[in-house]
Amino acid sequence: MNGKKISSYKQKKLKAQETPCHCCGIPAPFCWRCRCGFAMCQDCMDENFWGVTCNGITWDCPDCGAQNGFGNQ
Ligand SMILES: [Zn+2]
Ligand SMILES: [Zn+2]
Repeated sequence: MNGKKISSYKQKKLKAQETPCHCCGIPAPFCWRCRCGFAMCQDCMDENFWGVTCNGITWDCPDCGAQNGFGNQ
């Protein structure tokens, strides 16, 4: 009976973590995030890849211009 309680709690938590993408507005379970709060879903990142990165290692936030790494998420 404990397992049931934990799994429903986990589902609720996962759903709350979905962030609306700032480009397409669709909530995605995974978003690239900047410290300013900007979030971009994987689809938009794929589409705009060479618009936000020049080396494939870091991406520039279109909102605040900060550099974010691809590796640490
Ligand atoms: Zn998007
Ligand atoms: Zn930013």
